[in-house]
Amino acid sequence: MSNDLTGQRFGRLTVLKKVGIKGKNSNYLCVCDCGNELEVIRPSLVDGSTMSCGCLKADLDKNIGPKLKELAGFVEGTCVSVLKSGLSKVNKSGVKGVCWDKTRKKWVAQITFKQKHYNLGRYSDIEQAKKVRKIAEEKLFGEFLEWYEKEYKSKVDNANNPPDDDLEGTGRNQ
Ligand SMILES: [Zn+2]
Repeated sequence: MSNDLTGQRFGRLTVLKKVGIKGKNSNYLCVCDCGNELEVIRPSLVDGSTMSCGCLKADLDKNIGPKLKELAGFVEGTCVSVLKSGLSKVNKSGVKGVCWDKTRKKWVAQITFKQKHYNLGRYSDIEQAKKVRKIAEEKLFGEFLEWYEKEYKSKVDNANNPPDDDLEGTGRNQ
């Protein structure tokens, strides 16, 4: 019987003997590497759909579990890098978060934090804009929101201006 699978291995299964016919397929008694014995029909062995008593899948699940967690962490990490990449947009000023407002002919300092855009004011002096932006960056992972509320939001609110408005020269706005 040349097509008898006895003695052959399929994944973790070793075929012990043919134990009969199931439907129109040969049925084989197999022993799994883990020690479990089970009957598998010939096509399942030959096409690779059954390669263990089920312990192979269980092992894979066990191994995939931590991987998924890792993956979740990675996704979280990606969020952070997206935030960081948002900050690293290089523009005309050559400085992150400082760009030239053509219309007003001012340097605009801005920062994006948790997908929210914060205006840090417009400055005729690029160095001033850079300085403000730098301070904002330093605060970003610390008490940024608190700092922003105190330093900028109140000014914007007091002036009753939309956040995009000119923040330069607080005297003018108050
Ligand atoms: Zn097994």
